[in-house]
Amino acid sequence: MMTMTQDWLNHLNNAQRQAVTHPAGPLLVLAGAGSGKTRVLTHRIAYLIAEEGVAPHQIVAMTFTNKAAQEMRERVDHLLEGQAPGQGSQVTISTFHSLGARILRRHAPAAGLSWSFSIYDDADQRRLITRVLDEAGDERARADVRRLQSYIDACKNRGWTPDQAHEHAHDARAEADAELYAHYQRALAQAGAVDFGDLILGVLSLFRNHPQLARQYSSRWQHVLVDEFQDTNPAQYEFLDHLTSVHNNLTVVGDDDQAIYRWRGATVANILGFEDANESAARVKLEQNYRSTSLILEAANDVIARNDRRHAKKLWTERQGGEPIVAFTGADDREEAAYVAETIFDMTRQGADYDDFAIFYRTNAQGRLFEEQLRSWGVPYRIVGGLSFYAREEIKDLLAYLRCALNPNDDVATARVINTPRRGVGKTTLEKLAQATSVQGVESLQNALLLALEDRPAQNDLFATRRPRPRNPAERMLVETVEELSGVSRRGIQEFWEILQATRDDLLHYEELTPILERLIERISYFEHLERTDSESAEDRIRNVGELLSAIEEFERDPNSIALIEAVQEAMPDDLDDLLTTAPASLRLRAFLDRSALVQSTDQEGASGQAVTMMTIHGSKGLEFRTVFVAGLEEETFPSLRDQNDAEELAEERRLAYVAITRARDRLYLTNARRRRVYGQFKDTVPSRFLLDIAPERLIIDPRSAAKELDYARDRRQRLGHPSHEFPAPQIPAQHSPGFDFNQAPAADEAFSQESFAQEQPDWESNFSQTPDAWDVRTTPTGDDQLIGATVSHTKFGIGEVVAISGQGDKARLTIDFPAVGQQTVIRKFLKILG
Ligand code: ATP
Ligand code: MG
Repeated sequence: MMTMTQDWLNHLNNAQRQAVTHPAGPLLVLAGAGSGKTRVLTHRIAYLIAEEGVAPHQIVAMTFTNKAAQEMRERVDHLLEGQAPGQGSQVTISTFHSLGARILRRHAPAAGLSWSFSIYDDADQRRLITRVLDEAGDERARADVRRLQSYIDACKNRGWTPDQAHEHAHDARAEADAELYAHYQRALAQAGAVDFGDLILGVLSLFRNHPQLARQYSSRWQHVLVDEFQDTNPAQYEFLDHLTSVHNNLTVVGDDDQAIYRWRGATVANILGFEDANESAARVKLEQNYRSTSLILEAANDVIARNDRRHAKKLWTERQGGEPIVAFTGADDREEAAYVAETIFDMTRQGADYDDFAIFYRTNAQGRLFEEQLRSWGVPYRIVGGLSFYAREEIKDLLAYLRCALNPNDDVATARVINTPRRGVGKTTLEKLAQATSVQGVESLQNALLLALEDRPAQNDLFATRRPRPRNPAERMLVETVEELSGVSRRGIQEFWEILQATRDDLLHYEELTPILERLIERISYFEHLERTDSESAEDRIRNVGELLSAIEEFERDPNSIALIEAVQEAMPDDLDDLLTTAPASLRLRAFLDRSALVQSTDQEGASGQAVTMMTIHGSKGLEFRTVFVAGLEEETFPSLRDQNDAEELAEERRLAYVAITRARDRLYLTNARRRRVYGQFKDTVPSRFLLDIAPERLIIDPRSAAKELDYARDRRQRLGHPSHEFPAPQIPAQHSPGFDFNQAPAADEAFSQESFAQEQPDWESNFSQTPDAWDVRTTPTGDDQLIGATVSHTKFGIGEVVAISGQGDKARLTIDFPAVGQQTVIRKFLKILG
């Protein structure tokens, strides 16, 4: 056994060390944001290897994104640098889906799949559902496709096969849905494909049917570790159950307050019930937050404290105080975005890095205005999420060609490209051919195409028998279709078929994928097609295709992917009599297609260099940034509630707010807009309840804000009138600092620097925290400025006498002698002139 000389174990607090060195058996770390849960996992992996003598290949860790997996691998490698260099990369660190894909790929026949099965993404899945509905002559509207997609996903998230879905169906509609699910699974099987949900459910079925295989995996991976456990679903839980069946060495870390994937079938019951389900489970609490300042943590707590049925957690930080949280309200959403862009611009000019910043919003659509503004300020940004690279039309087209060359049954891919670029195969022809796939012996679109091409269809049974009447409508359709095929369609089909065959030849003759794709692009004149279809976007699209070629090249050089390819190859029987499937290029292609299917929109594919990060809050889990902007804090935008009375939905939105706020290390900006354009129309907004939940003394309002203190106070007062929204009594700090000087604050059109806040320690907090009436003072009409000697009243300092004035009007600075607190300089507008 190696001894650990690294001092990294000393860089953990006691509780963390306890979790890291936990001997064996189930371990739960349930702790708040930024308390080092992820750090515990990386250290534990390193500890197991360096101290416990566990071999890296005996450890498997699950993360929520591929990017998180990559980061964890690098950290482990880094920790082991001195002692066991390079061992981190031998640990299996993966998302559930990637691991599922890997296991299915290795045991394809046992899972009822061909070696060349395809992985369908969201859009492929919808196409297939549509086809299944069409084939079944189902009257249900196309609009139902998305609902059915959610239904099928929900079943798979629960670990239900169609049979189990049937058992759980208690009314006619649920039965019809379960029936459709069964149809859909058959169509998938026929297409030699799995969807995303199958990457888990397929493994569950495999393990249920072959328990010895599950035990093999469990014996191989002696330690199983899971990050973000609060967002696992029942299917993933069962997956873990199988993986730990032999040893029960399961370490899970998570935070119930950060459960934000309920809508995807995750259940917080997994983490909250962990100890009940694992009687011997040890539990470690982490209470110190190392990420954020106390102000940020308190703000996060203000918001989350309103959720009931929480697991109460303490969280403290050594970083007392910190920069005040800044609130800003734009006159409209554009101004909000402009403010964020300008603030970032200013701060980077003062030395901050672009990487230090993140802008979070509730939905991707909000990103557009930020993009525009960042561009106009010349601030580089990367958008994480939205349409993933691999979901772009041009990328999907090319990959579909490769997919259907490799997997002749992949009907969705075949249908996608048979007429792209156009080659005269019309929609009706395609529909008829698609229907022909239900004819026994045809079964795939490519077989139907082949029939259509045969000079003498008589070679086929159906035609050979020359029955006067085909046996069923589908057969009749096929016979008619083939006979009536126009010369143009036939030529188109012929051309497509030749392209497929040529690509297959290439797969047999080349080892590397790049030349194969290049030849395909040329063969189908794809760039010309892009230019013909939309000359404006063509340049971008062609660049994306270039990017795809680079991605393939990079993939082929990556040792991880080579290992993956080799693993699949090893799993294949030697006597597999299928040249195309076993060709080296096919194996590489299969692995590349898998990886591209598993790239999540949150993986920042292709992003590099210094840039501001923009993403939805859902994508921000586990991350941290020095400065965070949480945008769109308005009712209806965030929280965004489909059902105002759904307490569960609100609780989840609140957890989202908690996640967003706790990503910030040093500075937090909360922004919103007075009015926002929704579907092209301006709509007045109401400040988000989450903003108002934060105790006012933690916030300052940027002077350029369209909503000054008055607005917040009014909203707060309104809420005071609503017992359902209990609001904490405004706190007046016992100690005060001099009143904030408006004259020194930059005017709205001047560059506004965050530094000015930091240096001057403005007293916005105290101004903001006064009783609601205080805000009315601001409306006092300005009299003339000869005031010296006048008696004035200030809500916090009390009554005093004016001794000096500088400046004019509302912004004039008055030095006032307050008997209670001595001389203070106060802005004119915060005073009531008594006489
Ligand atoms: P989240 O709930 O957001 O996923 P987490 O609990 O996983 O957060 P980490 O991301 O592991 O927290 O840690 C938060 C930050 O605190 C990281 O920058 C991490 O390096 C740092 N950190 C954690 N523990 C310590 C420690 N003992 N000493 C110094 N820094 C620490
Ligand atoms: Mg974490």
